[in-house]
Amino acid sequence: MTEVAVPAVPRYLAQETPWRKADSLLSSAVTLVGLVGVGIAWVGVSGEADFDNQQSWLMVAIGAGVILGLGMSWWLLVGFREVRRAQREFVADLRLTRKLLPTTGEPALSRAARPAAVAPAHSDDLVTGERMTLVHRSTCPMVAGKPIVNLDRAQAAARRLDECKVCLQ
Ligand SMILES: [Zn+2]
Repeated sequence: MTEVAVPAVPRYLAQETPWRKADSLLSSAVTLVGLVGVGIAWVGVSGEADFDNQQSWLMVAIGAGVILGLGMSWWLLVGFREVRRAQREFVADLRLTRKLLPTTGEPALSRAARPAAVAPAHSDDLVTGERMTLVHRSTCPMVAGKPIVNLDRAQAAARRLDECKVCLQ
């Protein structure tokens, strides 16, 4: 078994969360402004016994609630958008790996940034890792970025490794 080059890690595996720092900071800041506004309105209205005087505080609370909702909605929107983008990239990688599904013509979003994932010359190479229980193709997204070694089918059988359900079945 020889050590093979570690392929570039796709963004969907390299990122810990779907949110970039700027997205998290912006949505947190907007949500915090809304929360503070609701708190101010709560304190303000608690000192007013007259309903007519409470109405302006109610308006402040409604406005702050809208800001609060915008902050949380932005956070969810960014999260869902990034997860969907990662799903599309993963499917694109799967198509390249298996060459079974017909491509629909849309370009893999980060194909240019990840030439290692598009290495057809080695797509049939079998690999596994030190503590892995499965054997994969070298182009399988499940082994991207992990330390892997080449092996053949006899070696895989001798080590009782099952075939990866993503890239080999
Ligand atoms: Zn695999």
